[in-house]
Amino acid sequence: MTAYPDLQLYIGGAWRKTSSSLPVLNPADESVIGSVPVAGRADLDDALAAAKEGFRVWSRTSPRARGEIMLKAAALMRARIDEIAHAITLEHGKPFLQAQLEVIRGCEFFEWDAAEGQRTYGRVIPSEPGIKYVVMHQPIGMVAAFSPWNFPMSQPARKIAGALAAGCSIILKAAEETPAGALHIARALHDAGLPPGVFNLVFGVPAEISSYLIPQEQTRLIAFTGSTAVGKHLTRIAADHMKPVLMELGGHAPVIVCDDVDPVAAATASAIRKSRNAGQVCTSPTRFFVQEPIYEAFARTFAEKARSVVIGNGLDAATQMGPVANHRRIEAMEALVADARAKGARVLAGGERIGNRGYFFPVTVLADVPDDARVMREEPFGPLAVINPVSTLDDAIAKANGLPFGLAAYAFTHSASRADRLADEIEAGNVSINTLEASVAEVPFGGVKDSGYGREGGAEGLSHYTIVKNVSHRMA
Ligand code: NAD
Repeated sequence: MTAYPDLQLYIGGAWRKTSSSLPVLNPADESVIGSVPVAGRADLDDALAAAKEGFRVWSRTSPRARGEIMLKAAALMRARIDEIAHAITLEHGKPFLQAQLEVIRGCEFFEWDAAEGQRTYGRVIPSEPGIKYVVMHQPIGMVAAFSPWNFPMSQPARKIAGALAAGCSIILKAAEETPAGALHIARALHDAGLPPGVFNLVFGVPAEISSYLIPQEQTRLIAFTGSTAVGKHLTRIAADHMKPVLMELGGHAPVIVCDDVDPVAAATASAIRKSRNAGQVCTSPTRFFVQEPIYEAFARTFAEKARSVVIGNGLDAATQMGPVANHRRIEAMEALVADARAKGARVLAGGERIGNRGYFFPVTVLADVPDDARVMREEPFGPLAVINPVSTLDDAIAKANGLPFGLAAYAFTHSASRADRLADEIEAGNVSINTLEASVAEVPFGGVKDSGYGREGGAEGLSHYTIVKNVSHRMA
C-alpha cells in the first residue's frame, strides 16, 4: 500500500511547501503521519491572483468542456480509490471500506454536477413586441470554501464540484487534520487538465484564512461546512461585506420510531448507521423517540447491536468502526455521558473511552434521558445515541422539532398517513422514512434553522454558485 502523501498547497496549478507546518496525526495510535503546510499572507495573495485569472478562463469555457475535465478527474479518482482511501483511513481513522465508499461518493458529486452544469438554463419572458427579456444564470465568481475533517474527500468534493460545474474558480481551505482527501482531488484535477488557478487548495490557521479571504472584492460566495458556531461567525463577517453564503452546519437528527414497525429490524439498522464514521456525521441519527409499546424491545436490541460493533484500526479488515477523529471528540463524549448519567439517564451500552492510546470510544446508548441533559440539545458528533419513549405522534413531532437544528430527520412507520404527516410536519431540510440515507448526489441537501442556509446537490445545488441576470433588450 502506498505511503501517506507529501502534503502541499496547490496554487495557480503548481504545488508548493511553506516555511511553517502542522503535524497530521493518525487517530488510531496518535502517531505523526505527515505535516501540512501553513499558508501565509503571500500564499493567499498568490491564490487570489491565480483564482482571478482562473475565473476569467473557466467562466468562458463551455459547460460541456468543463464537464469533461470534471468527469476525467472523477475517473482518475475512481482508478486511485485504494490509494486515496488508505490515506483517509490513516488520517481520519474510519474503516478502509467506508473510506472507499467515501471516495465513490465524492466522485458521484463530480459526475452529477458535471452534467448539471450543462443545464443551468435561463429563460425568455414573453412581453410586448420589440422587446425581449432574457434571464441568464452566470457563474457567481470566485468562491472561498471551507471544508471539515469528518469526510476528508467527499466534503471538499461537494464544494469543488459545485463551483467548477457552474464556471466559478475556487480557493478551498480544507481541514488541516485530514488534508489528504482534498490533496488527492487537486492531483486528479491537475492530471485531468484543469487550467491553472481554477482550483486552489490551501491549509493554515482557519480564522486567519477566512478573515482574509471573505472580505476580498473578488470573493463572491462563502461556502462552509462545519459547526453552527463557526458558520454564524463566518456569516457575520460575510454580512459586513455583503457576500452571500452557503452554510451546511450542525444537526441533531431525530428518529421517530412508530409502534407499527418491527423494533428489532429498526434498531439493528439504526445501530449500524450510528456507528458509521464513528457518528461524526451531521446527519447521524441521534435522538430516538420510540413509541411506548415497542420501546423496551427497540432499546434492548439497539444496545446489543451497539455492543457487537467491532472497534479497531480502520486498516484491519474486521474493523466496523474506527477511532473518533481527534481528542476533542473523546472529551465531548465523556462530558455528555457524565452529564446525562448524573441527571438520571441509563447507560445501556458503552460510555467510556477504550484504552488510552488512540481515540477509541464505543457506540454508546443512553436511555430515559431527561430533557435537561446537555446531550438532548448539543450535537454529540460522535458514536452516541439517546433513546426515549413517546406516547403519541404529536409528542414525537414536537420533540423532533424542539431544537434549533433542522438538518436530517428520520422516521420508521408502515402507515402511509403517518409517513405523510411526518414528511409534512418535521422541520428539517431532509426527512427520510424507512431509510437512514439522507444525502445522495441527485438530491438537494441542506438545513433549516440553525443547521444552515442553502442546498448542495440535486437540481438545486448550482443555484448558489450562479447569479441571475435579467437582460431587457429593445430591438433597434
Ligand atoms: P470547530 O467548531 O472548532 O470547527 C468546525 C470546522 O470549522 C473545522 O473544520 C474548523 O477547521 C473550521 N473552522 C473553525 N474556525 C474557523 C474559522 N474562523 N474560519 C474558517 N473555518 C473555521 O469544531 P471541531 O472540533 O473541529 O468540530 C466539532 C464540531 O463541528 C461538531 O460538534 C460539529 O457540530 C461540527 N462539524 C460539523 C460538520 C458537518 O458536516 N456539518 C463537520 C465537521 C464538524
